[in-house]
Amino acid sequence: MSAEKVHCLIIGSGPAGYTAAIYASRAGLNPVLYQGIQPGGQLTITTEVENYPGYPDGIQGPEMMVDFEKQAKRMGTDIRYGIATKVDFSTRPLKVEIDEEKWIETDALIISTGASAKWLGLPSEQRLNGYGVSACAVCDGFFFKGKEVAIVGAGDTAAEEALYLSKICSQVHMIVRRDEMRASKIMADRVINTPNIKIYWNSETDEVIGDKKVESVRIKNRQTGEKQEIPVSAFFVAIGHEPNSAIFKDWLDMDEAGYVKTIPGTTKTNVEGVFASGDVQDKVYRQAVTAAGTGCMAALDAERYLGEKGLH
Ligand code: NDP
Repeated sequence: MSAEKVHCLIIGSGPAGYTAAIYASRAGLNPVLYQGIQPGGQLTITTEVENYPGYPDGIQGPEMMVDFEKQAKRMGTDIRYGIATKVDFSTRPLKVEIDEEKWIETDALIISTGASAKWLGLPSEQRLNGYGVSACAVCDGFFFKGKEVAIVGAGDTAAEEALYLSKICSQVHMIVRRDEMRASKIMADRVINTPNIKIYWNSETDEVIGDKKVESVRIKNRQTGEKQEIPVSAFFVAIGHEPNSAIFKDWLDMDEAGYVKTIPGTTKTNVEGVFASGDVQDKVYRQAVTAAGTGCMAALDAERYLGEKGLH
């Protein structure tokens, strides 16, 4: 298998990867960035982004990611299409296999592979994605101001998002599949005590209904089999995220959900020269701006590391 040696390799092309690329390029690290399976990352499947500073009129998610890419390219990043398929951190330089066909050797590696939202798997959920179906209440809740919305899930994310929505929307219908919530007690209590959040216990989503946009959701009680249709303008899915970290599991310390662990206050992982930024190491904030922030940190950490090792 062919091999190529680079100085700084970045994998992933969301806000974290591109921000790392901008900083690494400007620092003279000549970074090579592989875009991964979804060039532009999760923002390419959202619609309008109104909470990223610097865009006073808001911007479409895909357009914003084209801007990120252009900026990284202008700074000199070598941007390539390709997917990291394997890594080997046993020797120096570090090795990353691309598309199962070539090895890239690198002095420093920045992992920005992101996370993917989990979906229920209903065809109607997929069809109406972006038309009222969303996996991010903080991103899209505002578009349903004063409306009735539904949310599915019962973990801390669902609780947090339901509370967020309750402040914007007239009524939040929360669909919970068991007779209790997985969320921490304090969060669950807060949800239960919020007057405009109605919880449907032991319930599963049967169908999201709507022609061109979400009009209602049909749920089914898992104990009685009884079905009911709730008119809503949006359907939020908050059943968890999956960090895209599978290829690192033999090398990097991770939590039980697969999020890469970093040394607090840094982007350093347990392997020297390997840095992690963005959603692959963040299960709490998950915002474009926080991902970009940690991307910047990763490039600065990489630059410092290379300097300390006499490699830069
Ligand atoms: P979790 O895995 O904790 O919860 C997922 C929830 O979705 C569970 O209630 C689960 O139900 C439900 N669910 C899963 N699949 C389905 C399905 N097919 N249909 C219906 N419901 C489904 O994910 P979170 O994203 O909520 O949290 C991930 C981690 O991040 C947790 O450790 C959490 O504590 C942490 N977190 C912390 C925050 C904070 O501290 N502020 C904020 C957000 C997250 P069931 O319970 O029945 O399995």
